Amino acid sequence: MTAQVDQFRARFGSDPTLRIEAPGRVNLIGEHIDYLDGWVMPAAIESRITLLAAPGSAAGGIEIWSAEQGDSQHELSASDFTPRTNPEETWLNYPIGVLGAYAEHGVTLAACRVAIFSTVPAGGGLSSSAALETAMALLIEALSGETCSTRGRALRCQKAEHDWVGVPCGIMDQLSVGAGIKDHVLHIDCLTLDVEAIPFPADIQMVIAHSGVNHALADGEYGKRRRDCEAALEELGAASWREVTLELVQQCRDQLGERLFRRARHAVTERQRVADFATALRSGHPEELPALMRAGHDSLREDYEVTCPELDFLVDAGFEFTPSGHFGSRMTGAGFGGATIHLVHDSAASTYIEHLRSRYREVFDRDLNCFVTSASEGAHCTTFTSLKPTLEKRFLNNRPTSSIRTGNSCTA
Ligand code: ADP
Ligand code: MG
Repeated sequence: MTAQVDQFRARFGSDPTLRIEAPGRVNLIGEHIDYLDGWVMPAAIESRITLLAAPGSAAGGIEIWSAEQGDSQHELSASDFTPRTNPEETWLNYPIGVLGAYAEHGVTLAACRVAIFSTVPAGGGLSSSAALETAMALLIEALSGETCSTRGRALRCQKAEHDWVGVPCGIMDQLSVGAGIKDHVLHIDCLTLDVEAIPFPADIQMVIAHSGVNHALADGEYGKRRRDCEAALEELGAASWREVTLELVQQCRDQLGERLFRRARHAVTERQRVADFATALRSGHPEELPALMRAGHDSLREDYEVTCPELDFLVDAGFEFTPSGHFGSRMTGAGFGGATIHLVHDSAASTYIEHLRSRYREVFDRDLNCFVTSASEGAHCTTFTSLKPTLEKRFLNNRPTSSIRTGNSCTA
């Protein structure tokens, strides 16, 4: 943290007054169904985006720099939200989009200086994009005095990603980054946006293994899956995926054609797996998790076709682990590269990580970025001590609480 403050000072010549932390997230099960009115089961993780900021000079604009994007500093406008097309600047469309989404509600950001640091691998399926959006949203709220519920903020951030970045994502990433609760997984109903926090067993570790293959969601496969599902829903004659059962999908197989049938089968079987996963956690039966994770990954590989050889290999290697203590493996996030999630008893975690690393090296001749995370609290904003205590109180009010329902005091 001190090193980040030093970098801020060296770049902007003043001390930061605000620190915002927004975690990445890992999804345990419920993949690609947040945009299909499904249920999902993510947790916020320890890797995070840290944003440091200070008010700027009255004549200045919004000066922004990301440590992950080279040395260039950029200036954003508080009134012109035209997306950037220069490849070196497209990352700015996330903050610009959030500025634009808040401006639609009459909220603007005053001149300020912003530095962004990150431990969430970009494009790794751990939702660096939603972390960046949420950090920006909290900055706007902190400096404008706007207060927004976790749910309202998530909806604005999702809009930024849809309209400015061109990725038609569901709501899971933004909601889990905002609503994370330490040592809990979040059972999110993506139709109502209700969030139930379920305690995660203290003796099971979440191990994340990053394949090193980065995805590019705006490239189109993500959008193609969404369009397939829209077409399937129309064929099924339903208004919402929540009405669609496996029986209906099977009855309509010929009418759907093979590809749409498989997409639809994933949508409904994955939803059921999330329900079963939640029941297993609530009732203290972790021995039921491996079969659900195996079936979830197989469905993503065969029916939804969003895995890749590296992800399939890591999941298979996880299930090959013979000592006891493995509670399942699957890809996590949108796929096409990115990361896998493995649940492992804490007594076996270090042997397990060694096993994955050596198998990956054997076959892909590459080092595996593999780490343990616990479930963390969601995005929050704190002030450095020089700011007024009243401001601190307001920021703290933005922190997620342990209530199991997210309120929605501001609609997006
Ligand atoms: P994921 O959310 O799974 O990490 P996405 O493709 O949705 O992957 O988002 C990754 C994009 O988000 C990056 O290509 C970049 O544009 C932006 N991004 C993520 N982290 C940062 C960061 N620290 N600084 C600037 N841009 C970032
Ligand atoms: Mg993303």
